[in-house]
Amino acid sequence: MSASLHYLSTRGASPAATLSEAIAAGLAPDGGLYVPDHLPKLGVDDFKLDGSLAETAATLLAPFFAGDALAGELPAICAEALTFPTPLRALPQHAKTSVLELFHGPTAAFKDVGARFLAASLRRLRGDSAAPLTILVATSGDTGAAVGAAFHRQPGVEVVILYPDGRVSPRQAHQLGCFGDNVQALRVQGRFDDCQRMVKAALNDAALQAQSPLSSANSISLGRLLPQMSYYAHAALAWWQAHHELLNLVVPTGNLGNALAAVWVRAMGLPLGQIRLACNANATLPDFFSGDDYMPREAIATLANAMDVGAPSNFERLRWTFPQADALREQLQAQSVDDRTISDTIALHAREHGEVFCPHTATAMHVLDQLRAAGDSSAWTVVATAHPAKFESVVEPLIGKPVEVPPALAAMLQRPASAESMAAENVALREWLLEKAAQQHADAAL
Ligand SMILES: *Cc1c(COP(=O)(O)O)cnc(C)c1O
Repeated sequence: MSASLHYLSTRGASPAATLSEAIAAGLAPDGGLYVPDHLPKLGVDDFKLDGSLAETAATLLAPFFAGDALAGELPAICAEALTFPTPLRALPQHAKTSVLELFHGPTAAFKDVGARFLAASLRRLRGDSAAPLTILVATSGDTGAAVGAAFHRQPGVEVVILYPDGRVSPRQAHQLGCFGDNVQALRVQGRFDDCQRMVKAALNDAALQAQSPLSSANSISLGRLLPQMSYYAHAALAWWQAHHELLNLVVPTGNLGNALAAVWVRAMGLPLGQIRLACNANATLPDFFSGDDYMPREAIATLANAMDVGAPSNFERLRWTFPQADALREQLQAQSVDDRTISDTIALHAREHGEVFCPHTATAMHVLDQLRAAGDSSAWTVVATAHPAKFESVVEPLIGKPVEVPPALAAMLQRPASAESMAAENVALREWLLEKAAQQHADAAL
């Protein structure tokens, strides 16, 4: 096994951290994102044949954990977090088309993988006696629910979810507000980028941190990014074993967390081929990959709302991984898919193949449809990031019938839900957190 990795900030102005420190902190002190000082290398032969997802994850992530306080716990963390399958399901329409279904967890989106792994890691890092920790999470819909579910009723942890009011689906909003206990939802009068800015400002506010220790659970946390690598490794290994060829991916992308995980898996040496990013009308990444300068911008609302991101946080990590713009552009291709095409793709696949996709997955399916139409016959997997039942208000009118709701989601929808309104201003969150901290101190004094 290689020597232990150090974790650095993408902005280069923070001291090196251990993995545990990086996971506990979320964001680096200089406002950058933590990255390992290099990516370890692994090959197919390092993995157990036909292992479970949790076993693949433990092998894949071992070099990242080597020498860390959590190293001995890694197999247990993987076993605790990765309790649901991420199947690579072949589609009958084409011998080499499959869907990597990442939505079989408790909140029906891939965010469950990272959120559960982070929760399992933090629980071990904190022990029983630590001061109460408040976890802030900005969400464009699915992250908040996954983090809420992963930390619900975990002692010593409060979760505060910020989401853009009116920009998540009715079922997503219900999920975000349904937890109660230690999980609170704030509906922000702005966009996802506002939520993310508010969270970053709070995390960087030393005076606020002194009153109430804060951490984040966004995709910027390494504790979420690293486990997302597992299902790509698992799928690539399974495909390699069966076909002895590389698996190509189309990944629906917003903040670049899920896609970056795939890029890192390939850079580590596992058998992934091309990686294509499917974006909605927010074209920051497609513009960059087609040769423009990187130009973050305001997000616009689309049918694939979990990808309504104009300034993808993980771009900093991607740049760190491939510092030369030309080398970076060779790694990925990116395409923007507009709302009309998303709708048409959902309707087309339901009608012709009886397959129902969520709007995010549909962006990726469209990218593959175009590749097939152009004659590409290689092995492609479309990454299915959420269950279509989460986006019923978009999907059902297009397919003309209800989408069956998975049981875990149905149970959440049975519970009552509530969320507090908040202005899209850093100071509004700051004051709310100070008041909450004062309340906690008063409660503790009773
Ligand atoms: C979060 C999310 C995405 C985008 O993932 P990123 O890691 O932000 O790129 C895509 N689809 C769904 C359903 C999501 O919840």
